[in-house]
Amino acid sequence: MSRINVMIPWLGTEEVAAVTEVLESGWVAQGPRVAAFEEAFAARMQAEHAIAVSNCTTGLHLALVVAGVGAGDDVVVPSFSFIATSNAPTYVGARPVFADVDPETGNLTADSVKSALTPQTTAVIVVDQGGVPVDLRAIRELCDPLGVVVIEDAACGAGSTYAGRPVGAGAEIAAWSFHPRKIVTTGEGGMITTSRADWALRARRLREHAMSVSAADRHGSTLAPAEEYLEIGFNYRMTDLQAAVGIVQLGRLDEVVERRRELAAHYQEELGDVRGLRCVADPAHGTSNFQSFWVEVGADYPLSRDELLEHLAAQDISARRGIMAAHRQPAYAGVDHGPLPVTERLTDDTLILPLFHQMTQTEQDRVIRAVRA
Ligand SMILES: *Cc1c(COP(=O)(O)O)cnc(C)c1O
Repeated sequence: MSRINVMIPWLGTEEVAAVTEVLESGWVAQGPRVAAFEEAFAARMQAEHAIAVSNCTTGLHLALVVAGVGAGDDVVVPSFSFIATSNAPTYVGARPVFADVDPETGNLTADSVKSALTPQTTAVIVVDQGGVPVDLRAIRELCDPLGVVVIEDAACGAGSTYAGRPVGAGAEIAAWSFHPRKIVTTGEGGMITTSRADWALRARRLREHAMSVSAADRHGSTLAPAEEYLEIGFNYRMTDLQAAVGIVQLGRLDEVVERRRELAAHYQEELGDVRGLRCVADPAHGTSNFQSFWVEVGADYPLSRDELLEHLAAQDISARRGIMAAHRQPAYAGVDHGPLPVTERLTDDTLILPLFHQMTQTEQDRVIRAVRA
């Protein structure tokens, strides 16, 4: 019996050819492939502007900078998310304020955001957790009149839909991840999408040291124009090697999501009637790419969550503990927060089952049998 991993990226010979072509061109840093990837990504996600960055964490950082969030501000975030969602506000000197999540979706709701707002709140970071779309409209209806910027952490969301459109399309600004644990991968990588031309322009500059002339333009000309550094920027660039992979991966997105949804539906069918188990599902307002297929292990199931993980590991099935809770990490020890009962329950009682494009029916049936047993 061979090991079944929780996730395996789907990479093929087209990615190899695309990288080879970039290597042979001699231009490996940010250049024409990054520009082409940005254009393709904006079109696919129905976004007006896309700015490639080094990863989603740096994307969230830049999103907060261009939105004007800074020292003394409060930023509402779900504790129930990868730690980067909480770290980004800290980078700009703001304070993350943890809000609880909906028990069905694992996402912030207008009610949970409302109860976490303070007079200092200038932004909220909402997450499409595990690919489940957040109910963005309800949260923007609350926040827009208050002048509170809503930033969408769509790290897991490529290929999910909200109200009939790609997630992120309804956001003023969103950040995406191309880590191999996500649906589209470039090894490491990220993207910012935004509807605002002024934010796009500033993010584009800030990602390369806030230079007045892009490095690609400078090196592309024989007599390079003199550049100026307009403010203190960062080096958050993506490379053309990564973008070449991203362009191929983006072309595979629809096929990947279709297969993931098929596998998720099979899990739901086969595990839906198991006492004490609850499977993640599409919310009423959209569809998930099932980036993470999680199940909640209730009191009626014969094993605890950790016992089920051990039981699966004994059969060479590598499941994972569910989404983490930032407020329980040493990095945030001593940070004040309100009660987070749903976050704590979900982080304690959920686990993520293997689900990847190349997964065979035999492999999935092995996981299903192990859980049912
Ligand atoms: C993975 C992830 C990130 C971080 O993405 P990187 O590209 O690795 O920086 C941020 N937020 C969420 C919700 C994530 O799942």
